[in-house]
Amino acid sequence: MSSPDTTTPAPVTVIGLGLMGQALAAAFVAAGHPTTVWNRTPAKAASVTGQGARLAGSAQAAIEAGPLVVVVCVADYDALHELLDPLAPSLAGRVLVNLCTGTSTQARATAAWAARHDIVYLEGVIMAIPPDIASDAAILLYSGPRPVFDAHEATLRAIAPAGTMHLGDDHGLSPLYDMALLNFLWGTLNAFLHGAALLGTADVKATTFAELANRMIVVTTDYVSAYAGQVDDGDYPGTDASMVTHQHGLQHLVDESRHLGVNAEIPELFKALTDRAVDAGHGASSYAAMIEVFREASA
Ligand code: NAP
Repeated sequence: MSSPDTTTPAPVTVIGLGLMGQALAAAFVAAGHPTTVWNRTPAKAASVTGQGARLAGSAQAAIEAGPLVVVVCVADYDALHELLDPLAPSLAGRVLVNLCTGTSTQARATAAWAARHDIVYLEGVIMAIPPDIASDAAILLYSGPRPVFDAHEATLRAIAPAGTMHLGDDHGLSPLYDMALLNFLWGTLNAFLHGAALLGTADVKATTFAELANRMIVVTTDYVSAYAGQVDDGDYPGTDASMVTHQHGLQHLVDESRHLGVNAEIPELFKALTDRAVDAGHGASSYAAMIEVFREASA
């Protein structure tokens, strides 16, 4: 079982030294943690061993090197299980922190696997790119037993000094948040890039558009705050703008895109979704009523 952090940086093992794993290992080394590493392709360990990490001869040796915390960052859950299932006896009693991306179902299944083998399991997701690891921009979201997180939080803060958070005991929570938050990345970037394509037809540069686009992103945060309460209450008063008004606005965006020869697939999809909400009786509701559409499985 886990033991609390002390003032001495705890030993850590990092398994998986791809782009992200190398950044994680470098962060632990920089924070003074004795760091053991292993990667299927040993050559990728060169940069972190140059910084002071110790390369183990096998994944089992890396796990058994003595560290309490084993951070795994391989490509996906299939790779994780291919690698770690045969090594479960070595992991027993240690804290396994999985940082590879996957679904909540995979996280919960892996938590059940860990429990069967007496492995203490924390699930984590990385909301950052490798260059941001160890900076204040890095956000690392964890789920699993709170006492385990508390005991090792100081160690895990080497990766994300200002952004290390525990979301709850359910191991599925961090991957769920990961997916929910990545929606913003693609949704916002697609809106910007589609808008840049529209404005490009009038020779407006994307760099010119960026200033107003960023102000619109800030305005949108007010909608998120206001609509969150409506979603939780299940009541969507259309006092700012009705769903029908949004539906008409989206039709304009579809028409403008088609007329200018710009890809119209995103506004067409959004328009089809508002059509469904209006058909379901939400014409006078606020846009927050779209939650009713999203709660249903797609056709
Ligand atoms: P990457 O550079 O492609 O590295 C993949 C790693 O997985 C390598 O160490 C690779 O080993 C290892 N691997 C793959 N299959 C394996 C197997 N069957 N057995 C053992 N090792 C195996 O990917 P990455 O960018 O580091 O990403 C790693 C994880 O972090 C992914 O789940 C990714 O979604 C997540 N993540 C990445 C970022 C990012 O910006 N890069 C951000 C958030 C989350 P070899 O070197 O031997 O091929």
